[in-house]
Amino acid sequence: MYQPLSNQQLIDVANEFGTPVYIYHAEKIAEQYNKLKDAFKNHPTRFFYACKALTNINILKYLKSLGASVDCVSIHEVQLALRAGFAPDDILYTPNCVDFNEIVEAQQLGVNINIDNISILEQFGNRFGSGYPVCIRINPHIEAGGNYKISTGHIDSKFGISIHQLRHIERVVKTTKLHVKGLHMHTGSEIKDVDVFLRGLDVMFEIARHFEQLEFIDMGSGFKVPYKEGDPETDVKTLGEKLTTAVKEFEAEYNRTLEVWFEPGKYLVSESGYFVVKANVIKQTPATVFVGVNSGFNHLIRPMFYDAYHRIANISNTNGAERIYTIVGNICETDTFAWDRVLNEVREGDFLAFYNAGAYGFEMSSNFNSRLKPAEVMVKDGKAFLIRERDTFDDLLRNQVEVL
Ligand SMILES: *Cc1c(COP(=O)(O)O)cnc(C)c1O
Repeated sequence: MYQPLSNQQLIDVANEFGTPVYIYHAEKIAEQYNKLKDAFKNHPTRFFYACKALTNINILKYLKSLGASVDCVSIHEVQLALRAGFAPDDILYTPNCVDFNEIVEAQQLGVNINIDNISILEQFGNRFGSGYPVCIRINPHIEAGGNYKISTGHIDSKFGISIHQLRHIERVVKTTKLHVKGLHMHTGSEIKDVDVFLRGLDVMFEIARHFEQLEFIDMGSGFKVPYKEGDPETDVKTLGEKLTTAVKEFEAEYNRTLEVWFEPGKYLVSESGYFVVKANVIKQTPATVFVGVNSGFNHLIRPMFYDAYHRIANISNTNGAERIYTIVGNICETDTFAWDRVLNEVREGDFLAFYNAGAYGFEMSSNFNSRLKPAEVMVKDGKAFLIRERDTFDDLLRNQVEVL
C-alpha cells in the first residue's frame, strides 16, 4: 500500500538541499498512473501525460518507464519528450495559436498532431494532403472545470474548432484529402462529474459519424484530485466502466475499434509533489498573525492566480498548540498563500509543507523580484535525488547583454 512521504523525510530533504524546495514522490506518480490504467483495462486506452504540469526530464523518463505516452503543447516540450526517450508515435503535439512552421517542425519529427484551427487545417491539408494523418481538436462547448480561467470548452474559449464548424471541417478535409485519424476534446481542468466526460463522448460520437478513418477518440483531461479534506477525486473507476460500455456500443455501429486516449496532467503528478519552505518571520499586525516564508508567488503562483487552495502544515512542530495564521511570501507585491489557516504554532525557522504541489508548481515559477528558482528533488525507493539545482545568481544575468 502506498505511503505518503513522512514529515521526517521532508525535513531531511530540506536540510540536505535547502529551502524552498520542490519534492516529488515517484511512487505516488506510479500509484496514480496504475489507478488510471486499471480503470480502463477493458478497452484499448492510452494515457498521454500532459507534461506542461511538470516537465523535469526525470519525471518524463519515469512516466515513460511506467508505460505512459506524452502530450506536448510546445515544440520544445516535444523536443524534451524525444530527449527523454519517447518514440515519436508516443508523443502527441496539441498546440494552440502557434506559428504554422512549428507544426511543420512537429510533422518532420513524426509525432502525432492535434489541429485546433480551420486555417491551420487548410494549410496542413494543402501541404500534406493524405500523406500525414492528423487529429482534430473539437470544441464541444461543454461548460466544465473548476475555474473559468482553466475551462477551455466554453463559447468564449480560444481552444479547438467549434462543433458548429463541422461542415467547414468536412469541406477542408474533402478538398485536401486529409486523413483524419483522431478526434480530440479537452474541456478544462478539475472536472469531478463523470457525466461531463460522458456528455463529451456523445458529442464526439456525433462527429465521428462524419469521418471514416478514425483510429482513436482523445478525451483530453480534467481529472480532479482532492486539494483539501473532503474534496472529491474524479471517480476514474466508474468513468472507466461507463466509458468502456459506451465506446464498445459505438464501435459496433462504427465497425472499427476505436482506441480511447486521455491526457492527464494534474491527476498524475499533483499529489506526488510537496513544496517545503522556511518561516522567515512571524509578524503580528492589528488584524492577523502573518507567517512570512522564504518563497512567494514567484515559486508557487496557483493561490494568487487561480485562488487555489493548498493544504499547508508546520512539519517542524507537529505537537505545537494550534493557532491561526495568514501565510504570505517575501516578495514586494501582495503575495498571500493562504488566509486563516490553523497550524501548529509556527516559530521562526520552522519548515512548512505545501501539499499537492507537483502540478503547475515549479513549472509556473519565475525569477520575479530577482529571486532564485527553487531546487527540485525526486524521492524514489526511499532515496532522495537532486533533479534540478537551485538557481544561482549567475542565472539571473544569463542571457542579459550588458551594453552600458
Ligand atoms: C493542460 C492540458 C491537459 C492537462 O490538464 P490537467 O488538468 O492538468 O489534467 C491536457 N490536455 C491539454 C490539451 C492541455 O492543454
